[in-house]
Amino acid sequence: MQPEQPAGDRILPDLTPENRAFWTGGANGELHIQRCEACRRWTHPPRNACGDCGGTLSPEPVSGRGSVFSFTVNHQSFRPGVATPYVIAIVELAEQADLRVPTNLVDCLGENVRCGLPVEVRFEALGEVFMPVFAPCEGA
Ligand SMILES: [Zn+2]
Repeated sequence: MQPEQPAGDRILPDLTPENRAFWTGGANGELHIQRCEACRRWTHPPRNACGDCGGTLSPEPVSGRGSVFSFTVNHQSFRPGVATPYVIAIVELAEQADLRVPTNLVDCLGENVRCGLPVEVRFEALGEVFMPVFAPCEGA
């Protein structure tokens, strides 16, 4: 069973000054994550100040690589137009041990997903929004 990409009927995010770089950076093929200008820690989801030191956050591109921290394969249709099954995952980005992004996995068989699977970002172009999703790395 090949999960279909749940594109086409996605609920799009409201863009804010804090999250705009995350949702639109894919236009340049880059995943942007906020980073503290003072202590240099990465932060996600977007917020208005560093949770550790209160410093100013600004978006910086990351490698787009990470690994599956946790996942579930969804077989229930919650929205007409979104094909099932699909994989909901939390991906831990390579840049920092606790830097995690809720996302979908694409181009993989649900039964082949495992925690620790190396993945890399891809983007689904949905107008102004470039939805970050992840797929297994080549050879993973
Ligand atoms: Zn900080």
